[in-house]
Order: sequence, then C-alpha cells, then structure tokens
Amino acid sequence: MAKKFLTCKDLGNTDCKRKFTGYNEGEVLMKAIQHVMWDHKVEKVTPEMKDNIRSLIKDEPAAVS
Ligand SMILES: [Zn+2]
Repeated sequence: MAKKFLTCKDLGNTDCKRKFTGYNEGEVLMKAIQHVMWDHKVEKVTPEMKDNIRSLIKDEPAAVS
C-alpha cells in the first residue's frame, strides 16, 4: 500500500523541513496538526484548516527496488 505524505512547506511554512508520513490520510493529518500546534504555535485548527491540510496530502512514490 502506498504511503501518504505531506510536507510542512506545503502548509505555507516555507522555512520548515518537517515531513509527515503515514499509511492513511488520518495518520498524516494527525501528525501535521500536532506539529503545527506545538511548533508553529497554532492555537486552534478549524475544520476548514483540516480540510485544507487533507487536500494537500499526496501519495508517496513507491520505493525503487
Ligand atoms: Zn512545520
């Protein structure tokens, strides 16, 4: 199963190199939200923000063997 990923850069934090990966969107979303709340001092993640984050999650290219 392809992994999902999202970079913090995609969320507009161009100086941040953090990348979130997971086996489903929910896992990536959760990691991303925790990170922005702790490290970017976002006090509240609204449902709209969640939808936006979710829409930016991509499939990770399969590893070349
Ligand atoms: Zn970040």
